[in-house]
Amino acid sequence: MIPFLDLGAAYRELQAEINAGVARALASGQYIGGPEVEAFEAECATYCGAAHAIGVANGLDALHLVLRAMDVGPGDEVIVPSNTYIATWLAVSQCGATPVPVEPDARTYNIDPALIEAAITPRTKVVLPVHLYGQPADMDPILSIARKHGLRVLEDGAQAHGARYKGQRLGAHGDAVAWSFYPGKNLGAMGDGGAVTTNDAQLADRIRVLRNYGSRVKYVNEVQGYNSRLDPVQAAILRVKLANLDEWNSRRSTIAARYRQGLVGCGMTLPYVPDWAEPVWHLYVVQHPQRDALQKQLGDAGVSTLIHYPIPPHLQLAYSAAGYVPGQFPIAERIANQCLSLPIGPHLGVQDANNVIAACASTAGASTKSNVQ
Ligand SMILES: *Cc1c(COP(=O)(O)O)cnc(C)c1O
Repeated sequence: MIPFLDLGAAYRELQAEINAGVARALASGQYIGGPEVEAFEAECATYCGAAHAIGVANGLDALHLVLRAMDVGPGDEVIVPSNTYIATWLAVSQCGATPVPVEPDARTYNIDPALIEAAITPRTKVVLPVHLYGQPADMDPILSIARKHGLRVLEDGAQAHGARYKGQRLGAHGDAVAWSFYPGKNLGAMGDGGAVTTNDAQLADRIRVLRNYGSRVKYVNEVQGYNSRLDPVQAAILRVKLANLDEWNSRRSTIAARYRQGLVGCGMTLPYVPDWAEPVWHLYVVQHPQRDALQKQLGDAGVSTLIHYPIPPHLQLAYSAAGYVPGQFPIAERIANQCLSLPIGPHLGVQDANNVIAACASTAGASTKSNVQ
């Protein structure tokens, strides 16, 4: 069986360095904050080309804390993609605000800037694009619409560590970027973790206070904050992983290029990359009208696949109170029904990629035949 993503292999490749980092964190005697967290924050900010990085407990908290720091609350609206992982929406809902979905560009899967303006109301406070599947959203038009309407921009970078937009690494195009270090992300910890990067010193300061009980000085609380801190053991692991991120992203690109070449003619819609985008291939997502049958055939052929995501947020039970109906966001719904993520990762060998292509080619032949009968 070709695994979807081999996290054990990721550990084995860096085992000596990771073990040394964990041992250093344990020996430091500081188990909240401390030198590993501070060093990772500095290295993360430098890597992203941002003035500040603030470690937090996970990606959802990173989104939530930025929105809180932007004073998003009840009665406010935040523009989000209709097709994203539900965390993007939940961060808005956790503030008591309302996520306002906007459909993606059907080719890039990222929020369609041309549809944003129509979704803006007097209550809109923030635009929250997601760099989905590792491909940057089209930031320039998003930023100019936001500026025109006096809105702030928070980017969800959970899937796009290292991606570049018009040559510049993601990290501070908008007011802030929220990152997740969930183990399966391109920059993954060995447990939960997250961060915010920003060039806005005031925003950075507010997030630092919010993540730590609303406290700057121990036992003095200026606001009702949260407990959302990046664990030093995870920070030590992330320092090792960050040093290898570019190399591992380039291995993902090699697989994506192989797929791009080998999957032509397999009856799938392949990912589209605008010329200004340098994606990092967190996921390699194809579309197929008979997605479920394709997934089953690939599984039978030994290829693990996943669906990102089978139910768009507006049709989740969690959002039933909002009264959405099927058909309301047809592009998101079509992607949910037709998308399939093929195996990709820094430890997928070229031979594995060739086997995936061969399996796709033979199922394409099989489904053509079964369509004919
Ligand atoms: C993973 C992910 C998150 C949430 O990150 P966690 O660390 O799991 O909380 C948010 N947004 C997107 C797009 C993600 O893929």
